[in-house]
Amino acid sequence: MALKYSSKINKIRSFAFWLIFLGIGVMYIGLLFKDVMWAMATFMILGMVFVGLSTVVYFWIGMLSTKTVQIICPSCEKPTKMLGRVDACMHCDQPLTMDKSLEGKDFDERYNKKRYQKETQGQ
Ligand SMILES: [Zn+2]
Repeated sequence: MALKYSSKINKIRSFAFWLIFLGIGVMYIGLLFKDVMWAMATFMILGMVFVGLSTVVYFWIGMLSTKTVQIICPSCEKPTKMLGRVDACMHCDQPLTMDKSLEGKDFDERYNKKRYQKETQGQ
């Protein structure tokens, strides 16, 4: 897998998405074992646990979404949601930060310059 910086909410969302797939997959394997009662029951319960977990994760995303800050991405100019101090654009994966002290360190040295700070003030 490529090391690409992507939005936290997108990451969690795709995790929940694959969890549902995994759950359905495991339940399907359970159906193949319908002659072996304990095996089928085990796979079915496991599958339901995965689907249940994914529901919890989706609920968690809903909770997190209330804490996000909506901003306009400076790169693609689309509205995106930011979670925490540092996050990436949901559309173009442009790294974004709310914390001035982190800007130069994590991404780009020019963010520390006074001119840039002046421009971003009041947003
Ligand atoms: Zn963007």
